[in-house]
Amino acid sequence: MALEIAVASGKGGVGKSTVSSALAIYLHRKDYDVIAVDADADAPNLHLVLEVDKWEKEEWFEDAWISEIDYSKCTNCGICAEVCPYEAVELTGNKYTINPVICEGCLTCILACPEKAIRRVKTGRGYVRLAKTRYGFPLWMAELLPGRPNTGKLVTEIKNRAKAMARENTIIVVDSAAGIGCQVISSLAGANAAILVTEPTPAGLSDLKRVHTIAKQFLLPSALIINKYDINPEYLDKILAYAKEENIDVLGMIPYDDHVPAAIAKMKHPIKLYPDSPAAKALLDISRKVENTIVRNWREWARRHMPRKPVHYTPILIKPREIGARR
Ligand code: SF4
Ligand code: SF4
Repeated sequence: MALEIAVASGKGGVGKSTVSSALAIYLHRKDYDVIAVDADADAPNLHLVLEVDKWEKEEWFEDAWISEIDYSKCTNCGICAEVCPYEAVELTGNKYTINPVICEGCLTCILACPEKAIRRVKTGRGYVRLAKTRYGFPLWMAELLPGRPNTGKLVTEIKNRAKAMARENTIIVVDSAAGIGCQVISSLAGANAAILVTEPTPAGLSDLKRVHTIAKQFLLPSALIINKYDINPEYLDKILAYAKEENIDVLGMIPYDDHVPAAIAKMKHPIKLYPDSPAAKALLDISRKVENTIVRNWREWARRHMPRKPVHYTPILIKPREIGARR
């Protein structure tokens, strides 16, 4: 079975992509079969630091649905505008129109329209791309078109493609988007381990708790990496206390180091450009620890770092009778 490691961070800009790419490079150098997945479909950038020259495969991914009004049936009653949870229906001049950029394809207006004047139409969501990185392992990347809905599906698509390509012992390293949105949920769903990256700041701690809640909903064993650990001792202590309380494995800490932005600005990974820098050494030490724990002995590691307080996921459903009640 391929091992899927999702690298996530509630907060953006904490070094998640630097960590995930360092891990992929390290494991590939150690002769593991590695596939990297850039699951930040809104702002993919792993291909820059992994030095992708050209895409071997590029496909238009068309599986999103939006709604469209059939004006031969529409009586202009305005119910669709009333019920749309995303405010995608606008009164343009004297007729109701659906803004295709805002429409999430949720079907609410279709169920509510008394004239059955609204239909679903397929629309493009974005691109799915595959490349061989200059390091020698493949990279799958999803890129969402501006304003297109349901990014999580695009992430699921590239994860499925990576799995279809994987062999028995492949390590799939998924670089998730920041935040706790649908891309992050799709990145963590079905993974074997979550590596959470944060920094010792109030926002870093708050966002760590939020993304860890998603990991707990999936009953995912979690590990933690603290980047720029030396910028705020007070919040470093708070983050370490949270990790202890929540049974999160602290894999290591990376010092603040100007070599990291300097390398990224040159579109090179710091472990390649400045291998003797403090941050590069920490990244390699952490990757070695991932190899020795999560990769080599996943079952034992997962057993020891299962969430102590699982969180139950409660989906929010919009039922047709609730739509009726809103009219
Ligand atoms: S609910 Fe149906 S009939 Fe009423 S404005 Fe919308 S599309 Fe037209
Ligand atoms: S499908 Fe959903 S989001 Fe799109 S217009 Fe209808 S109610 Fe609004």
